Amino acid sequence: MAENMVQTARAAFQTGKTKSVEFREKQLRGLLKLFEENTSTIVDVLAQDLHKSKQEVVILEMEMLIYDLKYMLDNLQDWAKPDRPSKTFPNWLDSLSIIKEPYGVVLIIGAWNYPFLLSLGPFIGAIAAGNCVILKPSEISSSSAKFMVDTLPKYLDNECYQVYYGGPAETTELLQHKFDYIFFTGSASIGKLVHAAANKYLTPTTLELGGKSPVYIDASANIEVVAKRLLWGKWINAGQTCIAPDYILCSKEVEKKFLAVAKNILKDWYKDNPKESPDFCRIINDKHFQRLSNLIKSGSIGIGGKTDPKDRFIEVTVLVDVKPTDAIMQEEIFGPILPIVSVNDAYEAIKFINEKDKPLAMYIFSNKKKDVRLILNNTSSGGVCVNDVIMHFAVPSLPFGGVGNSGMGSYHGKQSFDTFTHKRSCLYKNLGLLGEKLCSGRYPPYSASKISI
Ligand code: NAD
Repeated sequence: MAENMVQTARAAFQTGKTKSVEFREKQLRGLLKLFEENTSTIVDVLAQDLHKSKQEVVILEMEMLIYDLKYMLDNLQDWAKPDRPSKTFPNWLDSLSIIKEPYGVVLIIGAWNYPFLLSLGPFIGAIAAGNCVILKPSEISSSSAKFMVDTLPKYLDNECYQVYYGGPAETTELLQHKFDYIFFTGSASIGKLVHAAANKYLTPTTLELGGKSPVYIDASANIEVVAKRLLWGKWINAGQTCIAPDYILCSKEVEKKFLAVAKNILKDWYKDNPKESPDFCRIINDKHFQRLSNLIKSGSIGIGGKTDPKDRFIEVTVLVDVKPTDAIMQEEIFGPILPIVSVNDAYEAIKFINEKDKPLAMYIFSNKKKDVRLILNNTSSGGVCVNDVIMHFAVPSLPFGGVGNSGMGSYHGKQSFDTFTHKRSCLYKNLGLLGEKLCSGRYPPYSASKISI
């Protein structure tokens, strides 16, 4: 099956139909129509997979994709045109261009936590750039994946764009084949396997991975605003977000204020029994529930701490007195647990962050510009957001991606088009005699008078 799909996509690419910008625009409009006609089904399948509320589906999956589609449609004609770079003296009679070529057949492998956003986000970029695509959504969010298998073919060219359903074994089989570009979203351990498989054919690869994204809060920040923004970013999707704030670094004084304010906000949002709240997601499966139930044993409970295995429910939980050596500080949490590690100042925070792998995101809450600059200048991360969390992801002009262990390459907005585009440099020489004279200095016999140093 994998072989047939790749062959079909390659044959479709070779017909040249995806080279037409109008063809690509038609496919992007098809995806827009898919969203218009299937909103309630998408809300239903995400409720089945993750108990996601309608509001989270709309603002964190659908609206972002719809915006992306419209942004692509508005700009595609312009982006697809060749760039005309500036000329140097020896080229003044020639023409220079950078031609925007699609790579060919692209494989996109998605993760389960935002099944639509993380599969269709890169998919939109690959279509816009003129590639054929095999999309492999995560089998773990199975209702969403099955929806994509059944529904995408109704809105798109069936030879150029195909959806492959499967888990590790099927994906391993798929990766035996030659692709022209691979875009992977998921964990670093599987990212390494994907990268190794891509290496066989020297296939260029984007790896969108995860990691422990730190939050530094200093005493100058308005703790009410900090707590609201931070708690929202941590508890959307029950913490199962690649750029979720993973842990807090702050002083004991800030911790005390944060806990008092956070308790009130959480009570206001999820009432006395958060398990009954329709707004709170569930852990994706038993394996992750067990993993998180072990991590919750680190430090001591500051807020929350209740769990229910039958429902895979984990209450919003803040842990205090957490030591850097505790289990929760050794891996990406990817769940609704937020540990606080005490530091005295920005210097200690920088040292702590730099002892770990480069994170996907970093968050700094401070009113002191000097301290913010200090942290920015002395750390590295895929992206950074000052005085908020998550929101940098939603800015289309900011490329999104990791660095080091949190990934390589980036996408979003124009960067999505660029990621899936080979920039082919073209020097178009003039064959006239004047042009020939201009470059005749390169021919033998060589002499000192023909070189400048
Ligand atoms: P995962 O690595 O387990 O799975 C990702 C994809 O790889 C899935 O489609 C899965 O079917 C496939 N896969 C799993 N095992 C495989 C194998 N042995 N061989 C080939 N393919 C295999 O990741 P996940 O659990 O779906 O997602 C969680 C991780 O992804 C977290 O680390 C999170 O931070 C990261 N993530 C990153 C981003 C980002 O944009 N950077 C977004 C979401 C999630």
